[in-house]
Amino acid sequence: MFGGTFDPIHVGHLVTAINVRHSLSLDQVLLVVANDPWQKAGTVATSAADRLAMVEAAVAEVPGLEASDIELQRGDHSYTTDTLSELRRRHANAQLFLILGSDAAAGLPTWERVEEVQELATLVVVTRPGAEAMTPPAGWTYERLEVPRLEVSSTDLRARFSDGRPLDYLVTAPVQRLIRERGLYLP
Ligand code: ATP
Repeated sequence: MFGGTFDPIHVGHLVTAINVRHSLSLDQVLLVVANDPWQKAGTVATSAADRLAMVEAAVAEVPGLEASDIELQRGDHSYTTDTLSELRRRHANAQLFLILGSDAAAGLPTWERVEEVQELATLVVVTRPGAEAMTPPAGWTYERLEVPRLEVSSTDLRARFSDGRPLDYLVTAPVQRLIRERGLYLP
């Protein structure tokens, strides 16, 4: 599971998901779209349905990556533990991995019902090459992986949309097309 707001999904997200899948030989990486990213209240520019459609467009041609609407189906806002529990119900025999950047992993102690997450999933902490690897707090089963980190962020992309700078190669062509078709991120 690789969760995010994906507003919009960009090549940094895809490079991470593809490399984690390769390094750990995972069957599948689910890009789980946050329905209501309440921690980002006020900054989310597009609906959950549009963000899901962008993720679907981004992964359509990528083997082993899949867009997940699990948190949209549940509605409201989801805690990671609820999402992992649902994945456990759907895939009783699967080993579950939770992919997080070092920055996100640093916030783990503040998570809701974190001990349930520890039970449900192996943590995958992703760091950029050469960066100091973050060690999760006690209690976690974890893997640490170095993955190239492209200097692109959704926040910067939204700013680029609004003042007309090019998006080419920062988001994939199908995502750019979808954004145009749906008239997303217009100033
Ligand atoms: P924003 O700039 O709006 O905060 P974001 O891309 O950082 O957007 P999310 O869409 O929520 O935010 O990110 C989902 C996950 O992708 C998070 O775990 C985040 O750490 C990770 N991520 C964000 N940017 C990159 C990047 N350039 N390379 C790899 N992983 C990234």
